[in-house]
Amino acid sequence: MPNINRLLALEWAGIDASVDWHPPDHCSFLGQKDNLYPPHCVMGTPGAEFVPGLDTHRFHAIFRKGYQRDIEAYAVTHQHMGIFARYRESHVTTIAVCGIATNICCFFAARDLRQAGFRVLMIEDASAGIDVPAAGLFQAKAKEDGLALGIEYVTIAQMSFVP
Ligand SMILES: [Zn+2]
Repeated sequence: MPNINRLLALEWAGIDASVDWHPPDHCSFLGQKDNLYPPHCVMGTPGAEFVPGLDTHRFHAIFRKGYQRDIEAYAVTHQHMGIFARYRESHVTTIAVCGIATNICCFFAARDLRQAGFRVLMIEDASAGIDVPAAGLFQAKAKEDGLALGIEYVTIAQMSFVP
């Protein structure tokens, strides 16, 4: 989180956040249809709040996702398809992505943005990944796929060189 705050302190044209906002019987939870994850980010509970200390005052917009029981919505771009037009209308060309999990929510959003024609930077030291074998989600594979798509994997220290 301190690294994300360092990143948030840089000069950005816009900063969008996304957050899981799940019903208590969300399909991804253990015991539900997909049976993958412990309950997390249940809507309206403290678990769905941003981590204390995160500089949320820097966020310009917050997108909630995964709020329908039967839709996973790993990627904010899957839940909020208007986000592509939002960026194009703002003349955004480059998007930096960070957070958790690098190889799941971050990766799928980065993939969608890259495929939509944006330059995409994945900030590795402001992100953390996790392998989920039961879902076929692996950190090494996601990075391999991301590199093949033209996603650039960078560190915060490199960000000052990004035009
Ligand atoms: Zn979730």
